[in-house]
Amino acid sequence: MKIHNFSAGPSILPQEVITKAAEAVLNLNNSGLSLIEISHRSKDFIAIMEEAQNLVKELLNLPDGYSVLFLQGGASMQFLAVALNLLKDDGKAAYLDTGSWSSKASKEAELFGKVEVIASSKDKNHNYIPKGYKIPADASYVHLTSNNTIFGTQIKEFPKTDIPVVCDMSSDIFSRELDFSKFDIVYAGAQKNMGPAGTVMVIVKDNVLGKSGRTIPSMLDYQIHASKDSMFNTPPVFAIYTAMLTLQWIKDLGGVAVVEKQNEAKAALLYNEIDSNPNFIGVVNKEDRSLMNATFVLADESKKETFDALAKEAGLSGINGHRSVGGYRASIYNAMPIKSVQALVDVMKKLN
Ligand SMILES: *Cc1c(COP(=O)(O)O)cnc(C)c1O
Repeated sequence: MKIHNFSAGPSILPQEVITKAAEAVLNLNNSGLSLIEISHRSKDFIAIMEEAQNLVKELLNLPDGYSVLFLQGGASMQFLAVALNLLKDDGKAAYLDTGSWSSKASKEAELFGKVEVIASSKDKNHNYIPKGYKIPADASYVHLTSNNTIFGTQIKEFPKTDIPVVCDMSSDIFSRELDFSKFDIVYAGAQKNMGPAGTVMVIVKDNVLGKSGRTIPSMLDYQIHASKDSMFNTPPVFAIYTAMLTLQWIKDLGGVAVVEKQNEAKAALLYNEIDSNPNFIGVVNKEDRSLMNATFVLADESKKETFDALAKEAGLSGINGHRSVGGYRASIYNAMPIKSVQALVDVMKKLN
């Protein structure tokens, strides 16, 4: 039976990416060697790293002056790396609190300096994106979470400010066109929309670095990683190779603009069903709905067993909501075909 993978992360990857990654593990480029047993300093791997970095720059239309890094420790390591690299010794950082991931990020920054939470959606269990807040001009940076994987909200319009903008884009990177020249640091764990767990992509604008006045441990120092072309130590070769394959897949489809159109169509299909089917209630503010993670609950909890059985029968996997929200969450990342969203909608229609 075809399984439709709605997992929030690690999550669906294009089937052809998985096949090619598996082939490279057995035999990379007909070299007779496995991708995971060659030196990261070999010609083959250096070419892979460069291709991955160049594809990021091309697909995101990055202007000159940015470095693309593939690091380890996940997005969670970047919560503290960002603060170490940007937060001035006696300074403060501004955080927009839109859910669990952003509060985890600000908690790490508090270890290194003052944190000002500029707005929060906590009062309504993060079912909306705060708007109209002020960003303090004297903060070292402002930190945003573009897509809230757990609650299902997404920032549609980014605030304007003159201070450095840092954004956790773990769950919507490469899903929509954005003007990346407006961001100074962007980071994204690979396992939501890019590849397997094991690497986190970091985009840094070189000229915001080196100003914090701190001593930064080498492994957390963006300047060191950038000066070594993301090869300061052994990089996670398998995760980077697979991410590169996903980026090639996006390019072959026609780029981020094409993927964005598909994502809009998939989300519209699902949200239309949520809104028109009396059995379901959308969890978040309509204008803040995520194109990547759709959260919804049953109008009548007693139908849960029936709905879960129908979903299982149809091969729907990973639709249970996060424990802090309940109900259901369908993660419909770039690699999810619209046919799978249709399979979910069909099951929703079947429930009476
Ligand atoms: C999953 C996720 C994280 C955590 O990523 P790790 O790689 O597990 O550290 C951080 N932020 C967002 C928005 C996420 O979705």
